[in-house]
Amino acid sequence: MLLELAGYPLRPTRQPGESLAGFVSRHFGTNGHWMPEALHRALSTLYRSEDASAREEAWELICSLTGQASLADRQIWVEERFTLPEAAPRRKGRHWQRAYSSKVRVCPYCLVEHGVHLAIWELPLVDACPRHGCLLVHRCECGNELTWPGMGPDWTCRCGKPLSSLPTRPAPKSLRLLAQTVAAASGLPSPCGSSNSAERIANNLRQTYEVLFWLQGLVALIAETSRIPVPLEHRPGRRVGYLLRDWPDGMEVRVRRLLRFRYRHDQNSLVLLLDDAHPTKRLLDYLANSGKLASVLPADLLQSARAVIEHLGSPIGPAPTLIFNPALSISERQQRLTSLRDWWSDLRDWMEVEDAPTVAPSSPSLYLDSLDARFRMQLINLLVNAARTGISPQCFRRFAVVWPPARPLPANASPEVFIQTLDAQLRTVSTMHLQYIYELACHAAGVTGASV
Ligand SMILES: [Zn+2]
Ligand SMILES: [Zn+2]
Repeated sequence: MLLELAGYPLRPTRQPGESLAGFVSRHFGTNGHWMPEALHRALSTLYRSEDASAREEAWELICSLTGQASLADRQIWVEERFTLPEAAPRRKGRHWQRAYSSKVRVCPYCLVEHGVHLAIWELPLVDACPRHGCLLVHRCECGNELTWPGMGPDWTCRCGKPLSSLPTRPAPKSLRLLAQTVAAASGLPSPCGSSNSAERIANNLRQTYEVLFWLQGLVALIAETSRIPVPLEHRPGRRVGYLLRDWPDGMEVRVRRLLRFRYRHDQNSLVLLLDDAHPTKRLLDYLANSGKLASVLPADLLQSARAVIEHLGSPIGPAPTLIFNPALSISERQQRLTSLRDWWSDLRDWMEVEDAPTVAPSSPSLYLDSLDARFRMQLINLLVNAARTGISPQCFRRFAVVWPPARPLPANASPEVFIQTLDAQLRTVSTMHLQYIYELACHAAGVTGASV
């Protein structure tokens, strides 16, 4: 028969930050008993079940056996169920978002210092001790997994080994950061003072897991974009932890650095037109679409995601479909745009000047998936290169003659306005004419169309 905890001679006090399972186990252990199987099952249900009534029932049993009903525990495990995935299809891939219930994990150093099992070790993605930076231990040296039913009195394994003497290794910095982020958001008291609020990335634990889930998706797209074959992380791990450094600015910096690296060999393009299947486009779409998750994700994350897109936006089309080449710095872009404007002024004499009012562009800049748009962007890249590498305007004489008639721009127009106007003029011509202009430009620049 199960005896209520109150009936045992020794009644330890719950310590700050102590886990519910750990406290129950300690209570039995202190009295020289093992945790009853029924109680372990109830704890397991409370921690992991998706069935609200089953959790409520388990909670009642635990309360009656322990003689205690902590409001904080009830809030965490019964009401908020913050670590449990919801059974909606979009939650697929979130199997990791469950608390540890049977597998017991400990920090041997914390056990020496406080003698209790901490609730923080039960939370998903806490693989390292946030305080000592070591990996949590879940296996005894005898080879047995640490479990609640197998937990001996005074934190010993079945083999008699004290868990506080188990060896551990320092965790990678990113895993430690992940653990600290979860610990800071959990609001759980720590036996050694409150955790650092600077490590918080969201308002609460649930939102923190939303962010980490979102970052897991970002990591997969980053891997695709960087073209480095890396094994998929089935749950947020080291690579997600890496993005948490200098949060949230660090994430923006890292994505920008990745794209800069990805395009480092593409020095001949000023702008890139990306189709939907392109890994870079998919990555940037993911960032751009984060705005739709405004009710879920914190504002500073959305801001950083937006900043990546804004940084790449060009004056002649919307990002992420059309972007400035990420390999170019802002000053390099500016230099190229300026050199195009200045070089172009030498072509003016051969160009036909339009008297009639400007014709409205026939293909709006938004239709960037068309073949015309590809030719337009390739042509613009080619002209920018011709200007940058100082190809004599004389070579472009025939090109200039067939350029669509236009009113000359004032020489002091800003480089942005200049390229916008250039693009708008190209949008007034037919596909055939556009391809002819492009061919002439290739010829003048001494390149074949395919190499542009
Ligand atoms: Zn520790
Ligand atoms: Zn053992």
